[in-house]
Amino acid sequence: MPVSLLRVALPAPLPKLFDYLPPAGFAAPDCLPGMRVKVPFGRASKIAVVVRLIEDSEVPAARLRAAEELLDARPLLSEMDLDFLQWAAGYYHHPVGEVVSAALPLRLRKRAQALPLAETLYRVVLPTEDALATVSRAPRQRAVLQALLDAPGRSLGDALLRTLCDDPGGPVRQLREKGVIESIQAEPAPQPFVAVESEHVLNEQQQRAVAEVGKSLGTFGAFLLQGVTGSGKTEVYLQLAHKVLQQDRSVMILVPEISLTPQLQQRFAERLGGAVSVLHSGMGEAERERAWQRVRLGLCRVVLGTRSLVLNPVADLGLIVVDEEHDTSFKQQEGFRYSARDLAIVRAQRANCPVLLGSATPSLESLRNVEAGRYAHLQLTERAGGARPPRIDLLDIRDQPLQSGLAGPMLQALARTIEAGEQAMVFLNRRGFAPVLACYSCGWVSDCPRCDAHQTLHRASNLLWCHHCGSQRRAPQACPECGEQDLHPLGQGTEQVENFLAERFPGVPLIRVDRDATSRKGSLDKLLAQVHASEAALLVGTQMLAKGHHFPRVTLVGVMDADGGLFSADFRATERMAQLLMQVAGRAGRGDRPGRVLIQTRYPDHPLLQTLVQQGYDAFAQAALAERSEAEFPPFSYQALLRAEANKPELPRDFLQQVADWVQSIPGAEVELWGPVPAPMARRIGRFRAHLLIQSQGREQLHPVLGHLQQYLAESKAARKVRWSLDVDPVDTY
Ligand code: ADP
Ligand code: ZN
Ligand code: ZN
Repeated sequence: MPVSLLRVALPAPLPKLFDYLPPAGFAAPDCLPGMRVKVPFGRASKIAVVVRLIEDSEVPAARLRAAEELLDARPLLSEMDLDFLQWAAGYYHHPVGEVVSAALPLRLRKRAQALPLAETLYRVVLPTEDALATVSRAPRQRAVLQALLDAPGRSLGDALLRTLCDDPGGPVRQLREKGVIESIQAEPAPQPFVAVESEHVLNEQQQRAVAEVGKSLGTFGAFLLQGVTGSGKTEVYLQLAHKVLQQDRSVMILVPEISLTPQLQQRFAERLGGAVSVLHSGMGEAERERAWQRVRLGLCRVVLGTRSLVLNPVADLGLIVVDEEHDTSFKQQEGFRYSARDLAIVRAQRANCPVLLGSATPSLESLRNVEAGRYAHLQLTERAGGARPPRIDLLDIRDQPLQSGLAGPMLQALARTIEAGEQAMVFLNRRGFAPVLACYSCGWVSDCPRCDAHQTLHRASNLLWCHHCGSQRRAPQACPECGEQDLHPLGQGTEQVENFLAERFPGVPLIRVDRDATSRKGSLDKLLAQVHASEAALLVGTQMLAKGHHFPRVTLVGVMDADGGLFSADFRATERMAQLLMQVAGRAGRGDRPGRVLIQTRYPDHPLLQTLVQQGYDAFAQAALAERSEAEFPPFSYQALLRAEANKPELPRDFLQQVADWVQSIPGAEVELWGPVPAPMARRIGRFRAHLLIQSQGREQLHPVLGHLQQYLAESKAARKVRWSLDVDPVDTY
């Protein structure tokens, strides 16, 4: 039988594909997999993606409806993309239509018409001498003109010109008015890449990393590149990207946070001749669609982005890099809860290309994969350029008087650093002024009315603010319970430490880096520029400080509180603490001066903390892995977490109990169930939350059960009374 029907993926919360007749005037073979069609769905229309052409449907012929419109002339997703996305939907037990839809830019999910791909091209029409003569007194026009003159064919597309020159709109207009350049609409051409040779000679370990991964180009291979901050990992990425570009293939680089991409993008663009695209949520929709298209078509060969990039189509994928692979932001925590790092491995397998996971502090999962022989281990143990690793000391603060959370020896160390004309960084993972406001007379504390959490005091804005649900109220002048005038902020946040240090070290440039201080666009860059321009300076901040930025003059890093991670209910907390401490430590002494790290703790004898400080991250990781193995926690077992919430506490509990009973009745199911139990934050935004943990020795045992469960949930009546979600390989139970 010839194919006559379309099987499509459409964004609906149902774990299946849907069948349609082709639109009027088209035969099924006109609609290729990967093209979008508009289809009737219920009483509305939806934009769907053709996944397969089929001969026959289980839907009775009389009930089959026809698609309304074919939206694309060519497929937007390749068969390989579609296979990969369906695999991902299957693995995470998430509705396939929502997964396929996540691979498209927002604009193409909502709007029929794709933007035209043709772009404006600027070309110099005068002879070089004459052209230059017209701009002798106009430096900005001269810069634009020079960029055009330097480009092949003396012309550049609009997008590339924008990455090479700041704000070229005005100069372009003036040059056109003078008849120096013309603009033409052209089909986009591949962005040329002109690699600039590295100014560095790679050290032996870097060379080995480049050679090993380089050998694997064209075949799948997974590599863990472990190197402390500043050991030259990015340099390795650059050299490999260069090789891939020479083969006319594309490179995908996944990074945890978008605030990191400008620096990285610039570094890649400088070295690889501008042929670098970035995809992130901060872009306008049209701009994002164009970048997505350029990458999909191979017009741009290097693409940088955060986790969702792993789902996007990329032409001729030749290498995937996951930078800071241990970072939890690679796990999407709502909706389609995928791990971009884990999907990158599968994606590389299907594209037959290597995948390179880079980190100073690899996740225990990845280290376990090295141990099991699944990943090759590449190490950079020396800091590139010869900078020495920092010295790390624990500062016992039991019995120490603290001022705004800082012990005497810490303050002395800060003072000495400043006197030496160097910079110091104080690190505290709590923003705001104080985590709680309390009344000593009656015991009132600033609880969030909607969550099992406190509202944090923000003194600059005089607000009590819940960091979980965002609820805010004015900080009261007097106790709302007993009227006591004297309310006490308990504990410290970055705002308080900043105030305290400003008084203690008057005249020293002091900069706070946290989400409050940097929420305005561009303000982080300004703050960073200030630091780079100063000699002595103090930085105070949250983990935002710990990520990626170079502060070559920082020689002291003070960590105010390392203890939170030591005694948490979450078995991953110690791993996170260790990673964070090492990242923070990596900020010290990057220039020619050695660095020092001082960690305040009340548990200086804690074995994991001791191991970390005295023997380093690898020893810590070995000890932590041994603990995990003993307790049969991941990566020595596999988990899925079914979460549920509702406005009454018994609803999620009853629902999960019903699921638990049902799972237990599946014959031959080899899973263990833990719960249902209340979530660590049992009430959030006014809703009661609970979860059920499903654990197994292997994926082969776990996933069949999850497959049944997905079906059960789609049909269960009880499931409709709660809001539930299924999280495969959860990274926290929060
Ligand atoms: P990482 O990504 O591991 O933090 P980078 O690649 O950013 O490390 O390198 C840190 C610094 O060392 C950068 O300024 C980089 O230019 C420099 N660098 C990298 N490799 C070398 C090398 N082989 N010789 C000298 N300097 C190097
Ligand atoms: Zn009171
Ligand atoms: Zn709240």
